[in-house]
Amino acid sequence: MLLAGSHATPVSSPRPEPATASPLCAPVKVLSVRAAEGLPDRHNPVVRVLVVEDEELLAAAVADGLIAEGFDVDVAHDGPDGLWRAREGSYDAIVLDVLLPGMHGYKVCRTLRDEGVWTPILILTAKDGEYDEAEALDTGADDFLSKPFSFVVLLARLRALIRRGAPPRPAVLSVGTLELDPGARRCRRKETDVRLTAREFALLEYLVRKDGNVASKTEILDHVWGIDFAGDPNVVEVYVGYLRKKIDAPFGVETIKTVRGAGYQLLPDA
Ligand code: CA
Repeated sequence: MLLAGSHATPVSSPRPEPATASPLCAPVKVLSVRAAEGLPDRHNPVVRVLVVEDEELLAAAVADGLIAEGFDVDVAHDGPDGLWRAREGSYDAIVLDVLLPGMHGYKVCRTLRDEGVWTPILILTAKDGEYDEAEALDTGADDFLSKPFSFVVLLARLRALIRRGAPPRPAVLSVGTLELDPGARRCRRKETDVRLTAREFALLEYLVRKDGNVASKTEILDHVWGIDFAGDPNVVEVYVGYLRKKIDAPFGVETIKTVRGAGYQLLPDA
């Protein structure tokens, strides 16, 4: 079964439908329905999953499929409700759509991570090119899946995330007076908070993790923009410029060095 958004065309599967797959026709609102049977192991606690998806048929199909696999499923149909449930409930994983009424899925994800909620999150990306996969990971998501997707793939990815469990919170990194907290996505220089975009943060984190070594433009593109990046490589210079204006210039320091012909290097200011 291929589960699609309303604009996508369902494609029939060459293999027979799994017995657990549900038809997309039942407009059922599923709220905390526990599967009465078919649990993976009745001695194990039920695995709880939150599905945040505004397309009700798709949400119901995903929820029904997961319930049939023995999961305990809650569904939220907008961003604020999803955020509230993710904060309040203790879930083993969250399936989170990107385009949601009320609050964007990336914002929901970022907010949860900023608040220290580390439940594994699988983001359902809209395949319109507006938001790329690197951005999904920048927000602190653990995995992503493009619509339309097959339920079997969703289930496999979800199980892998649940097995892995919540990621350990990364340690705070520091270089001179610069402090970077990848867990809370916080950047500080001389005790002052510096607001960075997701991409700026990812670039700075990469430079910090190079530990004083030079990062080439190609390395930066691969790690921060992704190996599939096909845009203008000068984007690296542009973002280095943004970072200098935020983490160096206001503090009267110059820590991001251009190493001619080699790349960029982040050095301690003190
Ligand atoms: Ca949506």
